[in-house]
Amino acid sequence: MEIYKFGAECLRENTNAVKNITQELLNFMDDMIETMILAPGVGLAGPQVGLNKDIFTINADEGIFEKIINPRVLKKEGISTFNEGCLSFPLLYSDVVRPEWIKVSYLNEDGEEVIKEGDGLWARCFQHELDHLSGVLFIDHLSKKQMKELKKDLKDIKKIGLSQNDLEKILLS
Ligand SMILES: [Zn+2]
Repeated sequence: MEIYKFGAECLRENTNAVKNITQELLNFMDDMIETMILAPGVGLAGPQVGLNKDIFTINADEGIFEKIINPRVLKKEGISTFNEGCLSFPLLYSDVVRPEWIKVSYLNEDGEEVIKEGDGLWARCFQHELDHLSGVLFIDHLSKKQMKELKKDLKDIKKIGLSQNDLEKILLS
């Protein structure tokens, strides 16, 4: 799968809720997990692979690969700073401040509602991926000073992203 980079328009679009969890969608998410492992990364959201649906995959909970569908945050607490990266920003990292603990709900691959809470890498990853579903990228959380430091690298990545705008987006029923 092609991972879209910063500059690609699909990363800034809002996604749509999944109405039917089809076998096609689940196969697609299996491919996402494979792409995420190969990258390598701990999370990959629909828009990053050209699909504007409320889905992401994560591998941030002791080696468990999760398919997350229609997620939302129910509660958040605390504050923490973590040096974040993103597969749409190769080799770029910066400190991002986010809530430390979250309680979320989502559908698993069987369409069952899951309520889960936690902190650490899992919470960090979940919030980062959830942001992708409303077109928010981790650099949107950075200070002006941080953005200034990354300016040149961002420009380089954006060239790649812009060149991807002509690629075909994925259409799933
Ligand atoms: Zn990301």
